[in-house]
Amino acid sequence: MMKADIVICGGAVIGSAIAWFLEQQGFDGSIMVVERDPSFARSSTALSGSGIRLQFSQALNVQISQFGVGFIKAAPERWGVDLNLQEQGYLNLANTPAGAEILHENHAVQIKFEAKTVLLSPSGISTKWPHLNVDDLTLGSFGPRNEGWFDSMGLLGGFRQNARATQIVDAVTDLTLKTAVFQALRWPRAQKYPVVFL
Ligand SMILES: Cc1cc2nc3c(=O)[nH]c(=O)nc-3n(C[C@H](O)[C@H](O)[C@H](O)COP(=O)(O)OP(=O)(O)OC[C@H]3O[C@@H](n4cnc5c(N)ncnc54)[C@H](O)[C@@H]3O)c2cc1C
Repeated sequence: MMKADIVICGGAVIGSAIAWFLEQQGFDGSIMVVERDPSFARSSTALSGSGIRLQFSQALNVQISQFGVGFIKAAPERWGVDLNLQEQGYLNLANTPAGAEILHENHAVQIKFEAKTVLLSPSGISTKWPHLNVDDLTLGSFGPRNEGWFDSMGLLGGFRQNARATQIVDAVTDLTLKTAVFQALRWPRAQKYPVVFL
């Protein structure tokens, strides 16, 4: 029977990223990644539009994406792989005053975290993209930097090729949990809690 300290079910971008980050953060136990389809043909990772943007309403999401963009841009130094980030930006459009208000609120959150999002009036949108009909628009929000699309399969390859985790091609069909606990280290006193899987 094969054994590992950590078994990750699914080896596309999230599973492989977990394996890679665990090692980077000093985990020195054994890690096994079990993936049923190494072509990844039907994984979301392969089907994805591979877009990344900083335009969110919540600060945490903006920061998560900033980390992601930095990670993608640093791939050549880290792995010798260019993930081909195309910083074409996202353009979000509002066609009501209430929608414009939301774009203003989101913009305030984004620029607080150094996103370069700009707000554009309908005429500003029209100047930049003359083919767009702006007659029914009230406002646009555009991210000229750190937004666009990239090579998500290249990112997956980077994680897979640079993790020392054992890669297994198989389908996980059954999970039997014998014992599981997690420790809440940030509480005043570390406590153990049983994990319940529903
Ligand atoms: C059409 C589409 C467009 C998208 N566009 C974007 C976008 O522009 N920007 C963005 O950030 N996100 C986008 N997403 C979301 C993004 O692709 C996913 O959040 C991300 O790829 C999820 O990665 P994952 O590894 O969790 O899942 P997946 O990539 O789906 O990987 C799951 C893996 O688990 C394997 N697996 C499943 N069950 C088992 C089992 N029992 N045993 C063994 N292996 C198993 C599968 O074979 C698969 O390889 C998009 C998604 C889709 C579908």
